[in-house]
Amino acid sequence: MSATPSVASAGTPLPASFDAVVVGGGIHGCAAALFLSRANMRIALVERGGLCREASGTNAGTLTMQMTRAALIPYALEAHRMWASAADWLGHDLGVTVCDGLSLAFTEEEAAMLEARAARRRAAGAPIEIVGLAAAQRIEPGLSAHPILASHCRVDGYASANLTGLAFRRALLEAGARLFEHTPAAGAEPDGSGGYLVRVAGGGPPLRTRRLVLCGGAWLEEMAGWLGVRLPVRVLVNQLAVTERLAPAMRTVIGVASGLLSLKQFGNGTAVIGGGWQAAGDRDRGGAALVPARLVGNLRLACHAIPALRGARLVRTWAGLEAETRDALPAVGPLPGHPGAFVCGGVHSGFTSGPWMARLLADRILGREPAMPLFPPDRLIEAPETCGDAR
Ligand SMILES: Cc1cc2nc3c(=O)[nH]c(=O)nc-3n(C[C@H](O)[C@H](O)[C@H](O)COP(=O)(O)OP(=O)(O)OC[C@H]3O[C@@H](n4cnc5c(N)ncnc54)[C@H](O)[C@@H]3O)c2cc1C
Repeated sequence: MSATPSVASAGTPLPASFDAVVVGGGIHGCAAALFLSRANMRIALVERGGLCREASGTNAGTLTMQMTRAALIPYALEAHRMWASAADWLGHDLGVTVCDGLSLAFTEEEAAMLEARAARRRAAGAPIEIVGLAAAQRIEPGLSAHPILASHCRVDGYASANLTGLAFRRALLEAGARLFEHTPAAGAEPDGSGGYLVRVAGGGPPLRTRRLVLCGGAWLEEMAGWLGVRLPVRVLVNQLAVTERLAPAMRTVIGVASGLLSLKQFGNGTAVIGGGWQAAGDRDRGGAALVPARLVGNLRLACHAIPALRGARLVRTWAGLEAETRDALPAVGPLPGHPGAFVCGGVHSGFTSGPWMARLLADRILGREPAMPLFPPDRLIEAPETCGDAR
């Protein structure tokens, strides 16, 4: 079943050989592949579909500290700087807008939650301050009179997630990376000489590599399983909606204390509305169906915050899969017991932090000291014999 060197020596073409094969072309895989390619490594990026067409192309594009876990704030701040200067280091435009962000509280309970969340993030370095309604309305003139308190962050903004794949594709090709798009990886195994063989669907020759970088997003658990490692990943099925083009209705990124709203208006007038409201679906079926009652709840909350959205027509709704580890902190680092194999994923608000996480991992792979600690997946790995119990 598995392609081995003996198969290759029996007459089939020798496997293509790389310094690193990255499996999964979302923000983590694309950025890791780019930084490694630019360090003169021979890189292959294997992606089942097109680049950044899963979470990294279907997300809301928010680049925010307010929804980022406090422990990840220093990472997200660095990543925000990267996004803001993407045209320089990536070389291609992703429609990044840097603006203020407001997270709102409508009740006393939410106000207490907001203050506690803001304090934790401020202590971690995020420039967040609590403001009253009048100050919030000066920052966001489109805001309703309903909030009783808001937390204001000067470091916020958004990108056009649907441009991510195109921008990285161009940068990767310019950097000399080999792209295997629309090529599902079917498995990976040690090659017997310290490297790995990556099998691709369709039975072509496997890719031989010194290092293996697994960036599977919601499918990271399956990829780790190729090497017999059980790394559980929970899957969220987030639904989003976008309105028709509207007259200017808002100029900030708006959220709420509970996290159930993410809202911004793009330069073309459309407003993207989300906040982690769950659709039906799973890892196998994808975002299979929207749940209308939850969509209505999400839209009501958006209109409660920004009244100019009332009467706006939706032009599209969709859902995407977000990966989350057991402790909601990332898995970024070497895969224990498998020298030369690495994982990068499960990052909360992973679009925001993605490029910085990938840069840190690339530095580790290149033998440089990463500028911040990684998140080794050791703590998340379950013994294979517990698999039956856990399911
Ligand atoms: C609807 C939604 C809204 C979100 N909004 C935000 C937001 O506003 N701000 C924010 O910071 N974060 C947001 N997130 C989270 C963010 O999008 C993700 O954390 C991030 O994009 C994850 O990137 P990734 O590279 O790990 O995973 P992905 O982008 O999912 O990439 C994994 C890739 O692996 C590929 N793959 C899987 N199996 C195989 C295989 N066998 N062979 C080859 N390739 C394979 C997949 O096709 C996929 O392209 C949102 C997520 C969703 C779903």
